[in-house]
Amino acid sequence: MTATLQSVPDLPTTPDPIMDPALLDRLQHQLVTSPGAPRHTFITPMTGEVLGDLPLSTMDDVKRAYAVVRRAQPAWAATPMREKSAILRRFHDLALEYQDELMDLVQLEAGKTRIQAFEEVADCAIVARHYAATAARTLAPKPKRGVFPVLTQTVESYIPKGIVGIVSPWNYPLSLAITDALPALMAGNCVVLRPDLQSPLCALAGVELLKMAGLPDGVLQVVLGSGSTIGAAVLDHADYVCFTGSTPTGRRVAQAAAQRLVGSSLELGGKNSVYLADDADLARAVPGAIRACFSSAGQLCISTERLLVHDKIWDRFVPRFVAAVKAMKIGTALEFGFDLGSLASPSQLETVERHVADAVAHGATVLAGGRARPDIGPYVYEPTVLSGVTPQMVCRDEETFGPVVSLYRVGDDAEAIAFANDTEYGLNASVWTRDVARGRRIAGQIKTGTVNINEAYAAAWGSVAAPMGGMKASGMGRRHGDEGILRFTETQNVTAQRLIPIAPAMGLSDEAFTKVLTVALKVMKGAGLQ
Ligand code: NAD
Repeated sequence: MTATLQSVPDLPTTPDPIMDPALLDRLQHQLVTSPGAPRHTFITPMTGEVLGDLPLSTMDDVKRAYAVVRRAQPAWAATPMREKSAILRRFHDLALEYQDELMDLVQLEAGKTRIQAFEEVADCAIVARHYAATAARTLAPKPKRGVFPVLTQTVESYIPKGIVGIVSPWNYPLSLAITDALPALMAGNCVVLRPDLQSPLCALAGVELLKMAGLPDGVLQVVLGSGSTIGAAVLDHADYVCFTGSTPTGRRVAQAAAQRLVGSSLELGGKNSVYLADDADLARAVPGAIRACFSSAGQLCISTERLLVHDKIWDRFVPRFVAAVKAMKIGTALEFGFDLGSLASPSQLETVERHVADAVAHGATVLAGGRARPDIGPYVYEPTVLSGVTPQMVCRDEETFGPVVSLYRVGDDAEAIAFANDTEYGLNASVWTRDVARGRRIAGQIKTGTVNINEAYAAAWGSVAAPMGGMKASGMGRRHGDEGILRFTETQNVTAQRLIPIAPAMGLSDEAFTKVLTVALKVMKGAGLQ
């Protein structure tokens, strides 16, 4: 990385790339492209400057990538688990060792603050450590009770799907490109990855680190192109489809996968609530709610756009929260110390401005923020707090995916639960209460894949031993936990019958065999066999 960015009021007019050309050149070697390929120029949302350009893949390149991984997959599947684990452990160390370079790339491509860029580095390390340590146990063949104890010996085993196609979005350009690939690889699959066109460098850097960690050539191929062409083609060739993005696109991806009868996991949009119960510890809840609403400028699938405040603490919470939001430090620099960075693109800014303007036009009150800050960066928008939001306003139910939160007053837990569930989405929720048992009771009634108690989102997200994902229109399938690796396998039931055949035999008539079997079934039930 050669450049340090500062907040620049005047955007540069020269299209000179600010990336180190040697770095770009090195990273582009991770891409499958053809000589003379058209090149895609990409900018940093931090300043609007040109970051550089990369060659685009063609449909033929996608086919070539698949041919390469299909050749490599049998040998990779046969690679001992301890060797695969060692690669992930080395990747863990490399991600932490090269964290500065990775954080630079995340910030440059996504515009987020440095501390939120570190979240992505930490996520890669945590997921790598988890699957390095647990995959062998999770994927070990497991003896199961056969239809007749002792006589029938059943083993459940896990066969790699083959090739996993991954399409990842721009909002977590490092972690969402890499952390699904890690369990897919540990399960013996090869991977074709299509990172978002807006943010390919983080993915390429992550792949470079995986190769430095020992991942053999040909096991993971990266192609680059638009979602509707190259992204769709990657998924169309895959034996398993792994998609992260919006719900409308997820529905299209699910239909295409269903048509081919291949499995898919879909991590989609959300409209997540934070509930502050009347016994919430406000000293923790105020900064917690700020992180919940404004991490990555609200461009985090599990961040919050609905703040449900118990009537009894409304008057104490709201002024403190609004004052804290107004005090947030906004900036786009490759250094720590900022609370909010930039939105990732002009279209994100357009959506945020449209949602806020619509709410204001219909009578909502802006308690904090409410305007773009081109003086800080071209797509920067202030952290914004709205009250008086009603169902006729777009931001009540649609995902804004920006730094905009609406406050709602609720009378009790039941009302908060009903509000949190009053959405087509079901991704994440956060509950703040001093009584954790109460928090768990509330959580049990909220239909979201994760619920954080006294935390915004990172506790459940970072607890990768347990699965996370969406209910309802927020997706299908889970990442993390055993489910997060088992999704990349086919379960196989291999059963051997010993000593006595299952079918009528030993000279028994069908009728006699039926009687013997009836007695045997009764005995097994009496013995408490499942
Ligand atoms: P999007 O659906 O428009 O795009 C997501 C990705 O899919 C992009 O890389 C895009 O190029 C690609 N794509 C588009 N059409 C495609 C097709 N037909 N086939 C294959 N790929 C295609 O979403 P977006 O607006 O870019 O991303 C933000 C959305 O992603 C938000 O809704 C957010 O909540 C969601 N998201 C969800 C999670 C999660 O884990 N649940 C994580 C991050 C983002």
